[in-house]
Amino acid sequence: MTDRCNLRCIYCRPVKDLKLLDHGDILRYEEILDVIRVATGLGIRKVRLTGGEPLLRKNFVHLVQSVCRIPQIEDVSITTNGVLLEGFAGSLYEAGVRRINISLDTLNHLKYTKITRRECFDDVWRGLQVAEAVGFSPIKLNVVTMRGINDDEVARFAELSVRKPYHVRFIEYMPIGLNSTWTTEKYISSDEIRSKLETFGPLYKIPHSLHDGPAERYQFASAKGEIGFISPISHHFCPSCNRLRLTADGNLRPCLLADDEVDIKSPLRGGCTHDDLRSVFQQAIARKPERHYAEILEKGQCLRPMSMIGG
Ligand code: SAM
Repeated sequence: MTDRCNLRCIYCRPVKDLKLLDHGDILRYEEILDVIRVATGLGIRKVRLTGGEPLLRKNFVHLVQSVCRIPQIEDVSITTNGVLLEGFAGSLYEAGVRRINISLDTLNHLKYTKITRRECFDDVWRGLQVAEAVGFSPIKLNVVTMRGINDDEVARFAELSVRKPYHVRFIEYMPIGLNSTWTTEKYISSDEIRSKLETFGPLYKIPHSLHDGPAERYQFASAKGEIGFISPISHHFCPSCNRLRLTADGNLRPCLLADDEVDIKSPLRGGCTHDDLRSVFQQAIARKPERHYAEILEKGQCLRPMSMIGG
C-alpha cells in the first residue's frame, strides 16, 4: 500500500539513507484494483494488504471496500502495526475484512519503544482490544523472535495464547534490506522457540486449513488461541509458496528474499490491455525461484528494506 510507516522497527526499516517513494510513483487505488482484477483471471483468490503501514494510506477503508467487492476474491486480510487500529477497526470490519495480523514483538512497554523507536505500545494494545470487540477472527499477532531481545518473552506470549483467542505467530528473523541489523547471533530458530514452549506443557498440532499460509499451527490444551511458527530460514517453504507481492511502486516481486522484480506499473500506465497485464503476471510467476538461499545469504544481499516490500 505504501512505503511510509509510523514506526521505525530496528529489524525492518533503516533510520538512515531510506529514500521514500515520490507520490507519483506509488500505484493509485484504481491501478491496484486493476492489478487485482487481472490476478483474479489467473486464479488468485486471496489478497493481503500490507506495507509500510497500510492504515497510513489516505482513504484506505475505501480501497478495502472495493477489494472486498471483487466477486472472485474470497479472502482479504490486512497486516498492520496496530498503532491506528483503534480508530479503524470498526470501519475495516464493516468494509468486509474479517482477518487481521497485528505486529507485536513484545508485551513490555519499554522494550516496545526500543524495538519500534516509538512510544505506541498502549495504542496498539487498545487497537487489539477493539479489533477483538468488533469481531475480527482470527487475530494473528506477528512476533519476530530475536535472541537477546524478545526471546525471554516466550512464556508471556504462550500465556496470552491460552487466555485470549489470539494466534501468536513466531516468525524467524530474516536478513532483509541494506543496513539490516540481522546477525546470526540474533537469529533464533522456530525449533528452539518450540522447545522453550514445550517446557510449559504439551503443544498439540492443528491440521492445515485453506487460509493458513506458511504457518505450522499448534495449541496448548484448553487454550482459546493458538501458537504458529513461520520458519522461512530453518524450514523454508519455497516448494509450496504461491505468493506474489505487489510493491507500492508497482513491481511484482516473485520471492520475498530475492530482489528480482517485474515492472507492472509501466505497462499499466502505458495503456496495456488486461491480456498484456496477464502476461506480465505470468512472467513474474515463471521467475519465482526454485528456492531462496537466505540461510547462506551474506547480510545485505536482499537490498530492498522490508518496509518497501510488504511482509
Ligand atoms: N506495518 C505493518 C506491520 O507492522 O505489520 C505491515 C508491514 S511489516 C513489513 C509486515 C511484517 O513483516 C511485520 O509483522 C514485521 O514484523 C515483519 N518483518 C519485518 N522485517 C522482518 C524481518 N527482517 N524478519 C522477519 N519479519 C520481518
